[in-house]
Amino acid sequence: MLSYQITEYGKPLEALERATPVPEGDEVLLKITASGVCHSDLHLWEGYFDLGGGRKADITRLRDLPFTLGHEIVGEVEAVGPNVADVKPGDRRIAYPWIGCGDCAICARGDEHLCAKPAQLGVHVDGGYASHVTVPHSRYLYDYGDVSTELACTYACSGITAFGALNKVRELATGNQLLIVGAGGVGFAGLMIAQAMMDTEIVVADIDEAKLEAAKAAGAAHVINPTADGARKQVMAMTGGGAAAVVDFVGSGPSTQFGMSCLAANGEMVVVGLFGGSFDMSVAMFPLKNISLRGSITGSPAEMAELMALVKSGKVKPLPVAARGMGEAQQTLEDLQAGRIVGRVVLVP
Ligand SMILES: [Zn+2]
Ligand SMILES: [Zn+2]
Repeated sequence: MLSYQITEYGKPLEALERATPVPEGDEVLLKITASGVCHSDLHLWEGYFDLGGGRKADITRLRDLPFTLGHEIVGEVEAVGPNVADVKPGDRRIAYPWIGCGDCAICARGDEHLCAKPAQLGVHVDGGYASHVTVPHSRYLYDYGDVSTELACTYACSGITAFGALNKVRELATGNQLLIVGAGGVGFAGLMIAQAMMDTEIVVADIDEAKLEAAKAAGAAHVINPTADGARKQVMAMTGGGAAAVVDFVGSGPSTQFGMSCLAANGEMVVVGLFGGSFDMSVAMFPLKNISLRGSITGSPAEMAELMALVKSGKVKPLPVAARGMGEAQQTLEDLQAGRIVGRVVLVP
């Protein structure tokens, strides 16, 4: 098999050839047909997360080198271990990458994505910038129906991340107004998925007018630029007194502050973006308005199943994706680093 691997953090990926693994026990070997490039791959490749204010979080201890990035993986089953009965060679599947230890209380209650001893594909164990990947169990594989392979792979990260956040405010937002802050990659996926999963009136906020126009064309009832004069007042008017739920796909100080200020009484805000920063808010507002603020990261295997059922039903409008050859993995990371990429890039072997 061929893999594009990190041999030294921040240095160009190296194309390395090695023997294709033979699946054992419950394992499934996928021949990769598409592998998305996520913004977090950039941090994994660099070896640190920038926490702002000159602080960096070292993330090099989470894996051994050489290492293969890529957590948005779609492929065709090539071989299965002796215990595998529910998939067979030739089946096309998307891999759920947020795999836990499978042994702890968190995994037992179905929240593998929150496990403290994770084995996530492309984060802790070798992932998708390769011709093949080993998935530890067929329960992490999902059918994706007639969706294109290039589009399908994005549901493993941006899709499930948006779904997991929206799912937390689904009840509150149904029959009410939902404010989506940030219409970039994941936020735009969120706009598509929200329309498919619940009956809600969606307001989209972004500081980029082109993104607001795209959001309007993609089904947002209202759009607002939070830097405009009286933006909060306008949202209050659009929503009849505030949004029942807010999902912040930016996660910066100003975006979170804006979102909180637009909540109706009894509302809930979910932060899913990782931009970073901080904001000031009077603590008394939490009880006075009976509101809450929480975070969300990716989603559970059960949520992945629900998302893929929605996708297969044809209710989720497709996102634009650009396909590149797998050999352009390094160039793609550099383009991401330089901010030259708009939308999702998917590598195809
Ligand atoms: Zn990702
Ligand atoms: Zn666990």
